[in-house]
Amino acid sequence: MRKPYMRIPYTDALAAPTIIPKSANALSGAVAALHEFLVAPSASSPSGRHPSTAVLTGAGISVASGLADYRGARGTYRVNKTYRPVYYHEFLNKHEARKRYWARSFLGWTTLHKAKPNASHFAIKHLNDLGLVQSVITQNVDSFHSQAHPNLQTIELHGYLRSCICISCHEELPRDTFQDELARLNPAWDAFLREILALGALDTEDPDERHARGMKTNPDGDVDLPGAPYTTFRYPACPRCLTDPPLTANGVRATVEVDSDGAWVPTSTAGILKPAVVMFGESIHHSVKAAAEKMIDDADRLLVLGTSLATYSAWRLAKQAKDQSKPIAIVNIGGVRGEDAFFVDLDPNQKGNQGARVEISTDELLPILVEQLRSSNVQATHEAPDYVAKTQGGSIFKDMLS
Ligand SMILES: [Zn+2]
Repeated sequence: MRKPYMRIPYTDALAAPTIIPKSANALSGAVAALHEFLVAPSASSPSGRHPSTAVLTGAGISVASGLADYRGARGTYRVNKTYRPVYYHEFLNKHEARKRYWARSFLGWTTLHKAKPNASHFAIKHLNDLGLVQSVITQNVDSFHSQAHPNLQTIELHGYLRSCICISCHEELPRDTFQDELARLNPAWDAFLREILALGALDTEDPDERHARGMKTNPDGDVDLPGAPYTTFRYPACPRCLTDPPLTANGVRATVEVDSDGAWVPTSTAGILKPAVVMFGESIHHSVKAAAEKMIDDADRLLVLGTSLATYSAWRLAKQAKDQSKPIAIVNIGGVRGEDAFFVDLDPNQKGNQGARVEISTDELLPILVEQLRSSNVQATHEAPDYVAKTQGGSIFKDMLS
């Protein structure tokens, strides 16, 4: 049996990259290399059409939308030393862990909800319009890809924060609706959220800075409100399980109980909602894994954007492309896990058609690449208007969301 893809945090330092080809050190050289990468004929693509490219993205491409990545200069692991994600087994088994998670998530949601896709997401849409990119696999849970290019087939490898899902019956509930319920069940937290939003304390991920802006936190980085510590935080039960309690594995009807306001109580044996993301320590659903692998199988090449491939699930997809002898290009600030192996057999004189490694931010690079492809002889195969992005949100606390 093949190993399941388990999502785990990876915090080891990664070696600095070797830029490929050398000319890709400068912006113009990087654009030229990626142009070559995307349009050069490949062995597997029939003549008369562009080779098809799958794109694999990570947190780096959402930085320009105000979301922190993990390992960048302002990344979560560098800025917030108290960062500790909740693991799936803790969330599943401990009422206390769920209260802590939802209290943090309650504070973080407003800022994420305001954030919008950026130039990188729209550039990917335009590469699809030009007939060059056919599929996207993202590790991001922010839903920016589906907002920027709803018609381009996209797999969200680690799920999405826009919904909650019931652990018992798998019914989904919009995160917005859930947020309203959290506000109703926790009025002191709701008042506090409004206060810190007004003070700008949620515009930074730095614990000292947010403390200075009026955020009250204990040494673990948790918010504790006087009279309403997070241990008193309440969250709703799955509405469907509440109305119609499911059968448990041994055929017994589950118990789903709530307090007088509708908050889930620990005498319940079902009806727990979780974010619709693959939490750390949780396996990726086999259908999602299989669909992502098929995207790699179907593509002629792989373009990796804004990820260090630190999670096994993402690294494994790049390895699959390499094992199939498909050209790989990587655009990421900072090192990428095992990247030397992806470029080891390249002709030193190749100009990007066999592979490229660029260290420039995607929101700077990709729009210029799209412009250059448009002004050369690459014709759009179809063109749809862009979704209009509004104002960007502030930084997001990873520890409140993952
Ligand atoms: Zn349910």
